[in-house]
Amino acid sequence: MDKDIRICIVGGGPAGLSAGMYLEKKGYENYTILERLDRVGGKCWSPTYNGRRYEMGAIMGVPSYYAVHDVEEFCGITHDGPQLNRNYKNSKGDVIEPFEPKKNILKIPRLLKMKKQVKKLGEILETKYKGYDVNGHRGVAQGRYDGFSQANSKREPVSGENPNLKDLCLPFNQFCKLNGVELTQDIWIGPFTSFGYGYFDEIPAAYVLKYLDFQTCMNFVKINLWTWKNGTQYIWEQLNDHLKHPARLGSTIEKVERRDGKVYVTVNGQVEEYDKIIVTAPLYIPGTRMDGQKGMVDYFDAREDELALFSKIDYERYDVQAVLTKPEDHPEISYYVFDNMVPEKLGHLMVYYRRWKDQIDQVITTYALRKHKNSKEIPYEECRRMVQEDLKVMKNPAREVINEWSVYYFPHVFSEDYAAGWYDKVEAMQGKYDTYYAGEVMSFGDMDETAEYSRELVERFF
Ligand SMILES: Cc1cc2nc3c(=O)[nH]c(=O)nc-3n(C[C@H](O)[C@H](O)[C@H](O)COP(=O)(O)OP(=O)(O)OC[C@H]3O[C@@H](n4cnc5c(N)ncnc54)[C@H](O)[C@@H]3O)c2cc1C
Repeated sequence: MDKDIRICIVGGGPAGLSAGMYLEKKGYENYTILERLDRVGGKCWSPTYNGRRYEMGAIMGVPSYYAVHDVEEFCGITHDGPQLNRNYKNSKGDVIEPFEPKKNILKIPRLLKMKKQVKKLGEILETKYKGYDVNGHRGVAQGRYDGFSQANSKREPVSGENPNLKDLCLPFNQFCKLNGVELTQDIWIGPFTSFGYGYFDEIPAAYVLKYLDFQTCMNFVKINLWTWKNGTQYIWEQLNDHLKHPARLGSTIEKVERRDGKVYVTVNGQVEEYDKIIVTAPLYIPGTRMDGQKGMVDYFDAREDELALFSKIDYERYDVQAVLTKPEDHPEISYYVFDNMVPEKLGHLMVYYRRWKDQIDQVITTYALRKHKNSKEIPYEECRRMVQEDLKVMKNPAREVINEWSVYYFPHVFSEDYAAGWYDKVEAMQGKYDTYYAGEVMSFGDMDETAEYSRELVERFF
């Protein structure tokens, strides 16, 4: 492709900014990043309270965050944040140690069985499901893998046939049952459901295992995690500062028309002409968002195939509150509440996060889901109230809510559409209308998978 082509990138989150970085590294310098908000980082949002940054969005990474590491190297920064730690409580607010045999004598047989199943899952992922962990979903529904190995930072291209990969289309609980590893869900659920990615009876195994590949899940178990002192937003602010063309903030895109091999973008009342467009912003948002956010199909001259495919996308309703407590009510550590990570407890507090262990006049953030595929959505206000009640039960009541948001989170498709080849159809459309689709839905809703997908997109098409 001609290195001078004019490329428009929609969205200044991890996917959009890293698309800019990888394009620039490859010699494409004629790019423009349009960001609708007055800040970059998207769901990496780290506001300041009392001189320190807290996390309203992304919190942590693992050592296999190779794309994030590319960004760190590009900017000369590192993961220098507070060490994470956590304990567990039941729904009555009592501290428990669910994985400690000595504290759960009656559960010892189950714990031993779980340990064996975790080992088994590790083995079958390497053998029966070879190729499961490449970034993105190309070929999975057809029993193929095609992408870049995530085994090490080199990320070599790999591809091959593996009919067993079709099992990844199943919801994760069915995948586990099929393979006799049901109890592994007790481990995988912590960094999945409580992190807002939905329930194992509704989310295809491909998403669960591409994000929580065996190594990554073990890093969560051992708390071998990265954080950033100035918040995850700082990573992307730094990247934005180091790009030749930082994102244009406050860009309201009114219209995008694609004709005669050109892309016309009406932004803040002016028409701009480009050759290609990369969309990292949401492709489709069902219903109306409280914050008026729109999907790509609402402001693009969306074609029939785009509409038909993108209207299959659903997302999680994940609510975050930043609260202050009285000093005597401040939790001594972050807590997971496993009892609340089931669809029957929709809207309840699943995890709360204490980021700064040396300071109690700081923010605690709370996390809850309020939608399951088969149940009615819990209204925002009700969920907000439930979480505050839960904090009281946990003996860490909030005295004030200082920030809150209901996030458009983890866009994905369900098993039926996944198995019907949704990803292969979308991948086949890449470039068709001088348009490329990136961002969370194309890989997974975490900052590394999205940045990695942008790397691969640039590698494959530019
Ligand atoms: C509460 C929470 C906790 C999380 N925890 C973690 C974690 O610990 N680790 C981790 O790796 N990830 C975590 N994530 C997920 C991670 O933040 C996202 O997956 C990642 O930010 C996705 O990057 P993206 O660029 O694809 O999308 P986004 O971050 O959503 O960025 C999209 C950008 O596009 C902009 N945009 C939208 N519409 C338009 C438009 N019409 N025109 C122009 N711009 C537009 C948005 O304003 C935004 O800046 C968490 C997210 C949340 C909310």
